[in-house]
Amino acid sequence: MDCIFCRIIAREVPSTTVYEDGQVVAFRDINPQAPTHILVIPRRHIPSLADLTEADEPLAGHMVIVANKLARQEGIAERGYRVSISCGKEGKQAVPHLHLHLLGGRRLTNELG
Ligand code: 5GP
Ligand code: ZN
Repeated sequence: MDCIFCRIIAREVPSTTVYEDGQVVAFRDINPQAPTHILVIPRRHIPSLADLTEADEPLAGHMVIVANKLARQEGIAERGYRVSISCGKEGKQAVPHLHLHLLGGRRLTNELG
């Protein structure tokens, strides 16, 4: 298995896990861009957002709801936060396993990159 996020799910690579259930795992980004920077990933290896199908609607919704829960848990829900998903080359996706970024804890800039 050469996918770093699959290896994190398999606990072959350590990470700071903050949430997990049957569908998703959430852990702190190794190179945080904000005081809160958490990645929410599906347990199933899905390469990118573009690979989601209609059958994945519940999973996609679940990822967003988990991000909301984590924002409350992190104490940033009231102040505001950002959820983003990079997709493909020009979307600057570096790791080819679908992941949602939850960013907050500081005033974010308009720069989405
Ligand atoms: P992307 O640029 O693909 O949207 O985001 C990939 C994210 O994964 C980056 O923010 C990067 O810091 C994070 N990342 C890459 N490798 C690891 C790792 O081994 N552990 C953790 N916790 N985060 C990682
Ligand atoms: Zn993977």
